[in-house]
Amino acid sequence: MTLAKQNPVLRRVLFISPHGSYRAAPFVAAAHELSLQPIIASWGKYSIVSDFAQGLWLPPQDTNAALSVIQDDAHRRGPFVAVVGTDDSTTELAAMACARLGIPHNPIDGVRIARRKDLARQRLRQAGVKIPRFWVIDLNRPLSGQMLGITYPCVVKPVDLSASRGVIRADDPGALRQAISRVQSLLQTENDAVQRDRLLVEAYIPGEEIAFEGMLWDGDIQTLAIFDKPDPLEGPYFEESYYVTPSRLDPMQLQAVAETVSQACAAYGLRQGPIHAECRINPQGVWIVEVAARTLGGLCARLLEWRTGKSLEALVLNQALGQRMGDVRVEGGAGVLMIPVPAAGILRRVEGIGRAEAVACIDEVVIQQRDGYELVPLPEGGSYLGFIFASGPGPVEVEAALRKAHRALNIVIAPLWRGAVVN
Ligand code: ADP
Repeated sequence: MTLAKQNPVLRRVLFISPHGSYRAAPFVAAAHELSLQPIIASWGKYSIVSDFAQGLWLPPQDTNAALSVIQDDAHRRGPFVAVVGTDDSTTELAAMACARLGIPHNPIDGVRIARRKDLARQRLRQAGVKIPRFWVIDLNRPLSGQMLGITYPCVVKPVDLSASRGVIRADDPGALRQAISRVQSLLQTENDAVQRDRLLVEAYIPGEEIAFEGMLWDGDIQTLAIFDKPDPLEGPYFEESYYVTPSRLDPMQLQAVAETVSQACAAYGLRQGPIHAECRINPQGVWIVEVAARTLGGLCARLLEWRTGKSLEALVLNQALGQRMGDVRVEGGAGVLMIPVPAAGILRRVEGIGRAEAVACIDEVVIQQRDGYELVPLPEGGSYLGFIFASGPGPVEVEAALRKAHRALNIVIAPLWRGAVVN
């Protein structure tokens, strides 16, 4: 990555990043590619990364002060052509900064709603978008009364976690009580009282699941990719595993997915930028599981690059600059397996990577967890062991290759013995 010097000719773009974000670097790289000057605003006190060191230091826990720092910099050193929150946790501040600087942006409450599952459900229900029945549980009040009226099967979930952490299916009141207490323990370390004390329970939606990746242009949604999730996701935990594109749904269903996601975005008030949604499809139609104002996370974003020929970060920047892209290409198929954590314990090693990479259509196997690290499966854990990427003539071949490559892996995990403290 080349480092941009202070260059008065380059247009400046501001990235707001939480301390330690792994998403900042690809955004900086994309800015350099588009001949923009990246500036990073963050809260970290010390930094050995020059791009951070040259950036703006934001005072923690003081939104107004942070916005003033950004505004002062724009006055002193020149305007920003775009302000982008690189991570979920900074999208709201980025929208606020855009509002102050007169840059087109999503309504701030729309961005906030898209991150809070309970508020999102309320908004979608008001707007008549197809969602399951839901109940908000206050963990400070007795459960019995709040459980009256809940139908089964249902799904319990935290209001602000991601990657299916704490999402548990319950088929009867006993299982629901157990699931609630398990999620409550998981939330104990949350700082925010609402996130700690509130849970969402939803009716279980049967059906096939897909992921939708799109871009909003002044309220108009462009589909970038629709991924089938070919493994049944029936619980009790909902591990992401296979994503394969193009989807094998029929064109009418694909159209219905884009329309339903578009209705949900309109309900939140979202008009600009990337959209990641999960939907379930059954004979009653397309149901919204979740719509988020962000891109597909982590390494999976590579699949979008395969579809569009541009890095995800470049797509986001182009949108922020109002440079609309043409239609995306749809030759062949591509997919990823987010390798699930098969059991709790200490990762000893992953064998068979060479064998897996030798499978036809497999592009790469990436093991993210290091040997010696503790693996925590769902619903408490939230990270994958790694990823297998594939591309080929079509989705059928890609899915078969991913399955074969996964079978070639031997994941060796040692049990974890926690020592008791003796006084
Ligand atoms: P997260 O944001 O943590 O990923 P989601 O609300 O998207 O949480 O739920 C994660 C997964 O759980 C979904 O992709 C889906 O497979 C399953 N799920 C969530 N809610 C429901 C529901 N009401 N009915 C059926 N499955 C659900």
